[in-house]
Amino acid sequence: MTVNLLDFDLNGLAAFCERLGEKRFRATQLFRWIHQRGASEFDQMSDLAKSLREKLKTCATIQALPVISEHQSSDGTVKWLFDVGAGNAVEAVYIPEDDRGTLCVSSQAGCAVGCRFCSTGHQGFSRNLTTAEIVAQLWFAEHTLRERLKTTDRVISNVVMMGMGEPLQNYSALVPALRVMLDDHGYGMSRRRVTVSTSGVVPMMDRLAMDCPVALAVSLHAPNDPLRDDLVPLNRKYPIDELMEACNRYLEHAPRDFITFEYCMLDGVNDQPEHARQLVDLVRRHARSGVWCKFNLIPFNPFPASGLLRSGAPQVAAFAKLLSEAGIVTTVRKTRGDDIDAACGQLAGEVQDRTRVVERMAKRRTIAIQPAGSMAQSHKEA
Ligand code: SF4
Repeated sequence: MTVNLLDFDLNGLAAFCERLGEKRFRATQLFRWIHQRGASEFDQMSDLAKSLREKLKTCATIQALPVISEHQSSDGTVKWLFDVGAGNAVEAVYIPEDDRGTLCVSSQAGCAVGCRFCSTGHQGFSRNLTTAEIVAQLWFAEHTLRERLKTTDRVISNVVMMGMGEPLQNYSALVPALRVMLDDHGYGMSRRRVTVSTSGVVPMMDRLAMDCPVALAVSLHAPNDPLRDDLVPLNRKYPIDELMEACNRYLEHAPRDFITFEYCMLDGVNDQPEHARQLVDLVRRHARSGVWCKFNLIPFNPFPASGLLRSGAPQVAAFAKLLSEAGIVTTVRKTRGDDIDAACGQLAGEVQDRTRVVERMAKRRTIAIQPAGSMAQSHKEA
């Protein structure tokens, strides 16, 4: 059986080389060829002994993901749709900016969390990606872009685990992938430039703080439990106060001294002045000292099955003002790649609707338009 070498962090590759009777420095050479130079053929690796190259050919590959499609936006954003087999597809999006190049990477085919405003959530869960499938998105994007831009310099400076899937529900594949990104012999990214975005899997946030503390973004999207129960169903398991405490614990190990709270602005749902005031209360209640969080307000990318609408620009500006005036650092995310549906899950959804999740979502929407009290009741019963 051949092994895909994209599946290994450096320690994993060293163990693999050891099984072949090779020393650790051979693993380092191999790792550098793969990740720093984008080699996909062992014959390219000119400083490896011919005998080792021949041995590797019999038991290993460097296997990229097949590309189903590529879309390039007029603003430079590039979105790839990769085939991960059995009718499943995942996306990676490259977002160039003046001072950085960010790649948004997927961790699962589909997602089991089922957030109401998320196109991926509406497609249901299919399976966890392997470490190789997570790393392959970066490997492919980095070396494809270098070739196109005719540069040997690094193109992708930042990775955000914000594509399809809840990364902390695929923890054992995620952590080696993060280590490949951070490794000086791999992509050499600083911990501050690799961000894991979670909907709030509290026990895994604690583990990540111990195992591989990178920057953390939390998909908050609501200031109170009844509303968050509805928008981010995982909240029923890990309610907001527990999540806030986990954020504070994470900060003791994090490479940055703040957590980013993502907040998708949904017209008439979570974008009212009252919601902003509740957020201010929440942040103050959990503040240990000084600035400990930032808010990133995200314009919703509407898709028909959601039944939700994007908040108007004046509403978003008023909301941001209320938070800022209370001393909370608040940014509004620029929409990028609108012309290529660059929001997570929007292309993959065309490939397959994995389960009857769309029907279930529609049922939840019916529940959600009941008065707030009965809504919370229904979800507790569900
Ligand atoms: S927002 Fe993230 S956690 Fe929620 S359904 Fe989408 S991919 Fe899953």
